[in-house]
Amino acid sequence: MITDVTELKVYADRLQEREEKYRNLFNNSGVGMFRTRLDGSEILDVNQKCLDIFGRSREEVIGKPSVKLWVDPQEREDMVKMLLSADHVSELEIKVLHTKNGVRNCVISIVFYREQGFFEGTLIDITDRKRAEETLRSSEQKLSAIFRTSPDSININRLDNATFVEVNEGFTNMLGYTREDVIGKPSVETGVWDDPEDRSRLARQIREKGFVKNLEACLRRKDGSLITVIVSSRLIELDGSLCTLNIARDITERKNLEDELRKSKRESEAANNAKSRFLANMSHEIRTPMNGVIGMIELLQHSNLTPEQYQYAEEAKQSGLELVNLLNGILDLSKIEADKMELELADFNLKSVVVDAFKLLSLTANEKALKLEHTIDVDVPMSLTGDAGRLRQIITNIVANALKFTSKGSVTLFIKKEFETELSVTLRFVIKDTGIGISAHSLEHIFDSFTQANISITRTHGGSGLGLAICKKLVELMKGSIGVDSTLGQGSAFWFTSVFDKQIKADADKIKTPASVAQLALHLPDTTQDKRFRILLAEDDPNTQKILPKLLKHYGYQVDVSCNGKEALLALQNNDYDLVLMDCMMPEMSGYEVTTIVRDQTSSVLRHDIPIIALTGNAMKHDIELCTASGMNDHLSKPLILGDLLTKLDNWLTR
Ligand code: ADP
Repeated sequence: MITDVTELKVYADRLQEREEKYRNLFNNSGVGMFRTRLDGSEILDVNQKCLDIFGRSREEVIGKPSVKLWVDPQEREDMVKMLLSADHVSELEIKVLHTKNGVRNCVISIVFYREQGFFEGTLIDITDRKRAEETLRSSEQKLSAIFRTSPDSININRLDNATFVEVNEGFTNMLGYTREDVIGKPSVETGVWDDPEDRSRLARQIREKGFVKNLEACLRRKDGSLITVIVSSRLIELDGSLCTLNIARDITERKNLEDELRKSKRESEAANNAKSRFLANMSHEIRTPMNGVIGMIELLQHSNLTPEQYQYAEEAKQSGLELVNLLNGILDLSKIEADKMELELADFNLKSVVVDAFKLLSLTANEKALKLEHTIDVDVPMSLTGDAGRLRQIITNIVANALKFTSKGSVTLFIKKEFETELSVTLRFVIKDTGIGISAHSLEHIFDSFTQANISITRTHGGSGLGLAICKKLVELMKGSIGVDSTLGQGSAFWFTSVFDKQIKADADKIKTPASVAQLALHLPDTTQDKRFRILLAEDDPNTQKILPKLLKHYGYQVDVSCNGKEALLALQNNDYDLVLMDCMMPEMSGYEVTTIVRDQTSSVLRHDIPIIALTGNAMKHDIELCTASGMNDHLSKPLILGDLLTKLDNWLTR
């Protein structure tokens, strides 16, 4: 029997072709595909994508029960129930197990072939998509929480017509408007801008740069009150249209506070300056009459007094000197506080400064039978440039304190080199005493103004509590620091450092060592007989005119007085004087002018090279520069202290 199989063959070929197509599709599909038995006892077929979803090989899956691939068997049972009643399920969310990655979220769609008794379906892993959606949802939630709860005002405005799209509670709280008041309205119409120019500025900057940072603006609240805010804005795209996201912070209180602070800072600076000026003026004004008081007492001491009277006068003089000391302290401190203190830089010899300071201090040391010594390390350079007067003041103050608070033992000054460069040297001064010491508590405040460690002791010792405060400030001016180590009952060691310039060429001749008290005593008779030197005093203050000549007469000087500059010039043309004491500020002609004429070789004074010592009221650096510039040789500041005056006279007359 011959059968025509041609048609059959064609049919079979087509079938095979279709089967192949299906296979291809099945194998290469990006969606997981499977076939299982109804009871889940056996998985009949899976494609590669499905295997990927489970992380398993074909051998591990084919012929095995499908149940173990589910995370929750109940989920499968529910699905089977649905299939039995409806023949298919679509896009059901289930959880399956991946061997390595654990639980995966999938979407399953199944058709139930009732007659054949199996399921066929697709499986899509949506874990990553779900995760991304969740992240997005939670970040949206966070953002909207920030938007809702931010205390700052946040609003979104359309760029084209500036209408409010959204505002937060911060906005409604800050400006007193409700959402309904403003949404959909242009911001200028609502009246929130006090100055519409502020809005234009904001819009301009946004257009130019795309953002605005901390723009200060004035906004009007619904109740009409004004607030100051800083606004930051950024361009954003919302539902396809360009908008500005604006964040504003109310800084009204901060601004008011800043204004207050600035105002009170200005006021307190002004008050402080006024205080410093007042203190400086007052102490200067009080010093002038004190000059008269001390001078008169010294004069009185040179008259015929009983020892008892002399002692009374001496105590009055000491009180006067203490007062002058205190005034000097206040003057110094107020000058420093008003930043008016300038260092007077000049060449000096370190050893001379120490010897000089110790001259007076040794009197106290002798009285109290204390050993007063100094030790300067050999590597300390002696020829320095700096403010010798201020250095002497610091040393004198600290050593005087040490002597004051020590009743037996010694006070020693050590000077060491701490650091040296080619041009400068840092020195460390240590003043050790064997006195009462200072408690740890008092040490904390010892360098503050008006502080005294032990009030009861100070009462018997005197003092103002200004000394160390001034020392600290002076030391700081000299680029150094100051401190103290002390043990109560065992003594103290005060130290300070200072930076000095080294003299380029140390010229020994330039260093003037003032005559010592002992030297003075040698050639200065304390009676009136010897009038070796003739001095001209050019001075308009009647007090000084009265006291100085009488006082100096006791030390062997003859003093003539001129009341103003012109008289002084006349006197210098007619008499041969040895020295002039020249007040700087005088009527008719100032001391500077007189000096300039004297130094002029063509003028008709008898001696062009006569030593001229300036008497200055307030020895500021500037005044001294004027003295030097006009040709004066030296200066003394008022109130005149007899010891200083005698030293200077001796210095200039016995050269
Ligand atoms: P004052 O003019 O009162 O001496 P100071 O500022 O110089 O002011 O000193 C402040 C206080 O520090 C002193 O009153 C004293 O209590 C304490 N003090 C200073 N030096 C010493 C020292 N060497 N030994 C003990 N106490 C000292």
